[in-house]
Amino acid sequence: MSSKYYIKTYGCQMNENDSEIIAGILESKGYKKAKLPQDADIIITNTCSVRDGAERKAKGFIADLVHLKKKNKELLVGVVGCMAERMGDELLKRYKFVDFVLGPNMEMNIENIVESRSRSAGTMLSRTGDSPDFKDSSLARRRNSVNAWVTIMEGCNNFCSYCIVPYVRGREKSRPVADILKEIESLDKDIFKEVTLLGQNVNSYEFGLAKLLKEVSKIDGISRIKFMTSHPRDMSDEIIDAVAGSEKICEFFHLPLQSGSDAVLKAMNRGYDMEYYSSLVKKIREKIPSASITSDVIAGFPGETDEQFSDTLKNIEKLEFDAVNTLAFDPRPGTKAAGMDGQLPKDTISKRLQALMRTVERVTHKKNQSLLGSEHEILVEAAGIGRTRTNKIIKFKDKSIESGSFVKVRITSAKSWVLQAELLD
Ligand code: SF4
Repeated sequence: MSSKYYIKTYGCQMNENDSEIIAGILESKGYKKAKLPQDADIIITNTCSVRDGAERKAKGFIADLVHLKKKNKELLVGVVGCMAERMGDELLKRYKFVDFVLGPNMEMNIENIVESRSRSAGTMLSRTGDSPDFKDSSLARRRNSVNAWVTIMEGCNNFCSYCIVPYVRGREKSRPVADILKEIESLDKDIFKEVTLLGQNVNSYEFGLAKLLKEVSKIDGISRIKFMTSHPRDMSDEIIDAVAGSEKICEFFHLPLQSGSDAVLKAMNRGYDMEYYSSLVKKIREKIPSASITSDVIAGFPGETDEQFSDTLKNIEKLEFDAVNTLAFDPRPGTKAAGMDGQLPKDTISKRLQALMRTVERVTHKKNQSLLGSEHEILVEAAGIGRTRTNKIIKFKDKSIESGSFVKVRITSAKSWVLQAELLD
């Protein structure tokens, strides 16, 4: 009987994509996917360090594995991803039953680990050591039914003062254009109609994001191209023009604002102010009136005054975002912001987060209401669910339409997060 693997993933889409690659590596070695951890011969926890909550959940999951290891001494237990990089050997000391710990981009070593099944003293491999070439995402066992996430770059050079990514994912590293195109060309186009070019900061893709987008749009069989995440400071006119000038590149921009106060943006080391950000949004909407613009905003950054926080709320109203991920400030060990003066009490942060969520709810509800009666082409992702080019989730009644189909719909009801629609043809 063949061996089985189980992967538990925490965190962002980069981690989801890494887990798909790990699954691909294991399947190439003859492993099959296990439905439950107790059925597996190797269990891998892919971790996130961006929020304390994600770390706590991953630690809880790892700690529970001790029971499975006691029952099955042959079980291999691995921890990978950003928390693996941040904690390193400490994880091996704390969880003695863990066999290996690999930092991000070291997942290709899983192949050697399962071959040698070396576990006696535990293994720690970090990207701060020699890291292999850009990991081969063509190995990925993709789980999404219509969209293929394709990593084009990893890491970040920006050092926003609250963010742990540059410490755990390392500096920016861009994947060669030819590798990316080869991977997209080899996708099964009967299944994948959409690709999303993925990276921590895709706008600073070394070989030019606009050029890459144009090259990808020449590939037959791919109908939609998206990209994320963007840093507002690096959003060039060339990229906006590439979106405006192509049928395939979707009019969807995720532009994390983080704060609507210039002083807080400066303390965050974001590299732009509100004048710049507002004019960027204006420029996108002038060139592409149907564009959707989404964002991330943090409440309760150290030193944030009531007035600065209320500037953030006012600016969110003015900018009329389509959706906003709202986050409470969470000091990550080792980042500059964690050691800043002016850390706010938890209840202040929590009250601000509630106020932020209420504002976002109002703004996005109004924005979605403006779509009532409008017609859109959606790509069906599952029974009764599809997505517009602008990344809005649409629900519709007919559950018989197969995923991967493109259908026209008219919006009939609109809430903050989900839109309902009727089919047109
Ligand atoms: S741009 Fe800033 S927030 Fe985004 S990954 Fe880099 S350091 Fe983190």
